[in-house]
Order: sequence, then structure tokens, then C-alpha cells
Amino acid sequence: MIELIGIDKEYRAKDRIVTALQHINLTVEKGEIFGVIGRSGAGKSTLLRCVNLLERPTNGKVLVGGQDLTSLKEGELQKERKRIGMIFQHFNLLSTATVEQNIAFPLKLSKLPKKEIAAKVASLLELVGLSQHRKQYPSQLSGGQKQRVGIARALASDPDILLCDEATSALDPQTTESILELLKDINTKLGITILLITHEMGVIRAICDRVAVMDQGEIVEVGDVLDVFLKP
Ligand code: ADP
Ligand code: ADP
Repeated sequence: MIELIGIDKEYRAKDRIVTALQHINLTVEKGEIFGVIGRSGAGKSTLLRCVNLLERPTNGKVLVGGQDLTSLKEGELQKERKRIGMIFQHFNLLSTATVEQNIAFPLKLSKLPKKEIAAKVASLLELVGLSQHRKQYPSQLSGGQKQRVGIARALASDPDILLCDEATSALDPQTTESILELLKDINTKLGITILLITHEMGVIRAICDRVAVMDQGEIVEVGDVLDVFLKP
């Protein structure tokens, strides 16, 4: 579902070049929950943002569902990006919009009839358990509820893939557990492939099938979660 082939990423800072990714090769299969773990600065966020080309790799190819996204023009890329949802550590919600407006936002851009948008938003609210909160603003919600809004918004365009950027790092352990359960549900019931990055081993153990370990811009190990973490 996702293939990263020979990816390098360099950032040009003022007086120097930062190598964030080196020789990354990674395949994530359809239906998998795949985790990338590593310390801060290892390159996890850059790797994730290369999948939907929020960052453009310096070298290499990004294939999603067999299609080379790196070869697309901006207009075509916008279309393909609808197949890839994303959620964030700090949720990135619109603070001046209600829960339902936040979720409807990507649909408003899609020119769907109003009735269909309303029905879609209602079913997403139900999926993430926020039907009672649909008229509230983000500031009136707990962290876990905000992330549920983020998840519903990410699913609004019916993506095949969900990218999760430290999605539970701002949450307490109990809330983390409930959000991970929701992600697992979404993976199982909707068949959505999940690629997540985290610095927390517990997240990987809780829901991932396979894991890649990153250090200094490189993948230093990859395999089934049990194999990677049970090794001496
Ligand atoms: P992680 O997500 O594992 O913390 P990042 O991908 O955020 O790692 O960062 C990898 C490296 O790239 C770090 O050295 C970071 O400082 C650097 N970096 C990330 N984004 C930028 C940027 N926009 N400009 C310059 N350097 C960056
Ligand atoms: P995260 O919490 O996802 O790891 P970071 O704190 O690494 O986020 O980065 C936040 C933003 O700052 C990102 O857009 C990243 O690209 C940028 N950034 C990270 N490191 C640097 C850096 N050394 N120089 C410039 N921008 C950076």
C-alpha cells in the first residue's frame, strides 16, 4: 500500500544542510498497522510527511497503491492526497469551528450535496462517539475528544491510509488506551492501513503488527513487533 524507495531528505537550514533521512526503504502492506519508533530527531516525522508529500524527498520515490506520487503535478497530487488521512499530536483543529464543522471541512471542498455531507458527518460522529458534542467548540473538549474529532475529520474523505503523527503523545495513559482502541477498530472494521510514528514503546506493543526502529535518519531494524522487542 505504501512503498518508500531509496528516500533521502535534506533540509537546507541557513548555514548548513541537515540530513533528516538516509536511504529509507520501507513497505507497508494493505491492512497493516505499522509503527515507526525512535528518539526525538531520528527522522520519524519527516518520514511520515514524505508519504503524503507534505515534505518532498530530496531523492527517491513514494508509491501509494502502486502509484508514484513523486511524479505527479500539484493538481493530481491533491486528488491522490484524499486517499491519505492524517492526525496530529496537537490535533490541529479549527478553534473557531464546532466539532461538526471541523469534520465537515474536507467535505465542503468536495462539492458533495449538503444532505450527503450532513449524513456523512453524522455517521463519523457516531463512529468516534461524539454525537452528543457536535455543537461544541474544541476549547470545550478534553484532549481525547479533540483527537476523536481529528480522527473523524481524517476519515471524512474515505481514505485508504491513515498517518498518525505522535497521535497520543499529548494524552494521559487512559485516554491513550481509548484512542488506540479506536484506531484498532478503524483498522479492523474499515480496513484502513495505518502508519504511525511514536517515541513510546507502549503504543507499538498495543496495536502495531510490524515496527521499524529509526536512528539518525536511518531505519536500523524492521520486523514483527514480537520479534523486534523480544530479541536480547
Ligand atoms: P523526529 O520526528 O524523529 O523527532 P524529525 O523528522 O522531526 O524527527 O527531524 C529529523 C531531523 O531533521 C532533526 O535533526 C530535525 O531538527 C531536522 N528537521 C526537521 N524539520 C526540519 C526543517 N523544517 N528544517 C530543518 N531541519 C529540520
Ligand atoms: P514534532 O512534534 O512533530 O516532532 P517538531 O518539534 O520536530 O515536531 O517540529 C515542528 C515543526 O518544526 C515541523 O514543521 C518541523 O519540520 C520544523 N522543524 C523541526 N526541526 C527544525 C529545525 N531544526 N529547523 C527548522 N525547522 C524545524
